[in-house]
Amino acid sequence: MTTVGINGIAGRMGETIYETARDRDDLTVTFGIDVNDTNLDLPVYDPGETAEAVAEHGPDVVIDFTVPEATLDLATACAEAGVGLVVGTTGFGDDGFAVLEETSEAVPLLKATNFARGVHALLRTLGPALDALENYDVEVMETHHNGKRDAPSGTAKTILEEVSEYRDFETVPGREGIQPRQDDEVGMLVRRAGDIRGEHEVILAGNDEVLSLSHRAEDRAVFAAGALDAAVWLAGQEAGRYEFGDVIDAT
Ligand code: NAD
Repeated sequence: MTTVGINGIAGRMGETIYETARDRDDLTVTFGIDVNDTNLDLPVYDPGETAEAVAEHGPDVVIDFTVPEATLDLATACAEAGVGLVVGTTGFGDDGFAVLEETSEAVPLLKATNFARGVHALLRTLGPALDALENYDVEVMETHHNGKRDAPSGTAKTILEEVSEYRDFETVPGREGIQPRQDDEVGMLVRRAGDIRGEHEVILAGNDEVLSLSHRAEDRAVFAAGALDAAVWLAGQEAGRYEFGDVIDAT
């Protein structure tokens, strides 16, 4: 039985992860951390008590869906307590990535910008498509709920990283006025509206045809299930940096 803490348990994702975990018998959530109060029936700590909470409960893994500043405080606490960390939070800068890298030298750390298995299938399909359609124009679009802070989404950035394995390009964040498309650019379009869980689309267009690879998360439960699968898998691993693809390959 894997024991898990949730950082950001009062949030959209944190609460969904807690609810999803209640239906599983391979793990148990023992505590949460959040700046906001909750009515959940488990101990929930303030961020100022993160180190104490992690040390006291000593879970196998803490799952984090918060904001980058909170993740980095948690990373320090996990490294000190020898506790694994699953990071779903997006929007880190270079300094943040460096802290996470350092943390993974002390404990197992798995970070993914998207815990939906379908997104991983999309990413794995994209390379062969770019290979096959060498001169086609590539454009990326993502849509999320109106409360999302970072833009473009972490998943869109992961898609752009995958494209960069095959093409040299400049990312163009939308277009305005007289701005014809250049050969070496990829347009990155961002929409924010309602409570849309997460939609991503990559198009490859040329030669009188359009290939569209798209994914739509219909419920946050898809991310929650992936993050919980990752926590159970990570509990048995040595210190190091892991990806969601490692979990998919192993399960
Ligand atoms: P949210 O705003 O609903 O929830 C974030 C929670 O973190 C809030 O309850 C907030 O009070 C809490 N929080 C803020 N500061 C904190 C601190 N210092 N310590 C502890 N808790 C703190 O946001 P969300 O929609 O749940 O998304 C959270 C993050 O997860 C975002 O970065 C989002 O992009 C990312 N996300 C990732 C995936 C994925 O599959 N990797 C999926 C969905 C969302």
